[in-house]
Amino acid sequence: MIDQRSGAAPAVRLAGLRKVFGSGDGAVVAVDSVDLDVGDGEFFAMLGPSGSGKTTVLRMIAGFETPTAGRIHLGGRDVTADPPFDRDVNTVFQDYALFPHMSVLDNVAYGLMVKGVGKSARRSRAREALATMRLAGMDDRRPGQLSGGQRQRVALARALVNHPKVLLLDEPLGALDLKLREQMQVELKSLQREVGVTFLFVTHDQEEALTMSDRIAVFNDGGVEQVGTPTEVYEHPATPFVAGFVGTSNLISGTASGELLGEEGTFSIRPEKITLRPGEAVEGSADAAEREVVAAGEVQEVVYAGPSTRYVVRLDAGPELVALQQNTGSASGRSAAPRGSRVRLGFARENVYRVRGATREEGTT
Ligand code: ATP
Repeated sequence: MIDQRSGAAPAVRLAGLRKVFGSGDGAVVAVDSVDLDVGDGEFFAMLGPSGSGKTTVLRMIAGFETPTAGRIHLGGRDVTADPPFDRDVNTVFQDYALFPHMSVLDNVAYGLMVKGVGKSARRSRAREALATMRLAGMDDRRPGQLSGGQRQRVALARALVNHPKVLLLDEPLGALDLKLREQMQVELKSLQREVGVTFLFVTHDQEEALTMSDRIAVFNDGGVEQVGTPTEVYEHPATPFVAGFVGTSNLISGTASGELLGEEGTFSIRPEKITLRPGEAVEGSADAAEREVVAAGEVQEVVYAGPSTRYVVRLDAGPELVALQQNTGSASGRSAAPRGSRVRLGFARENVYRVRGATREEGTT
């Protein structure tokens, strides 16, 4: 697909990409029939559980693995058969792979040296890259004398110093502790905006993908279940797998969907879209029923989590739903609806989404 507005080819295009490791009985299909377009300048996440094939896709784009079938295009050029150094991409690995015995400046300038750039030119370009990564003045330090977040930025500076068209990042924040990771999520996004390079990153952390990306491809078992913006993927999950993997979701299906929603199928509703009211159900007006579903049930579990509380409620109609309530009221610590109590759950019909009845590999699309 050519971008209609700019007329430019996508930064990355994957067409029918497949990778099988091994052969015969021991063959593993790591990636199967992946079609994906990543736009120029996009911050794009490949999100999925361990073993879903996202790293293998990244390694094929970098040229470290050869596809069993399919094509890879970078900026409109077919690079499927090209070696890694002929591709206009750089990779940031999870462990950063910095040279411990070299200064920060030499680490960043190394790639330019390999390419034959003269000493003063490579030093000034490395300093520029370090300044962009907010690391000015750290030239002479060794990687061991830096914090985790600083090391991460050195790795980014090193990968960006050649001005690649695409930066591939493999779990770029995986080695950082939670606080630093949250900080770096925001920082990485703003750095990407500043340098304008296409970022394609792999993560199994759904919050990270939602926070940083322009678009997300959700991987499952070697294939892509859904591609969309964070809002699309979160608010309108296409399959039960996406609904379950990205955030928490309630699924309503079978006879319960007929009884509660008046329609057969599989539907998803997010816990924060459900309100919980203590007490037994009372009949509302027909008008209200058209807009809102109200169902009675019993509280099975109450999980207090500071700003919010999760209630697990078994509805009389069958399904067990999770309702997330913000703790904006009294600070007494008393639950509005203790375990075992009767409650009504209410949710707007417009927040209920039909999802495909099965995940991709079960064959119903
Ligand atoms: P993780 O988040 O754990 O890295 P992933 O989604 O990136 O997972 P891949 O590393 O791409 O998944 O692996 C996909 C599948 O391919 C897995 O079943 C894995 O065991 C298998 N696989 C990956 N590399 C090889 C290899 N070199 N030889 C054999 N099988 C492999």
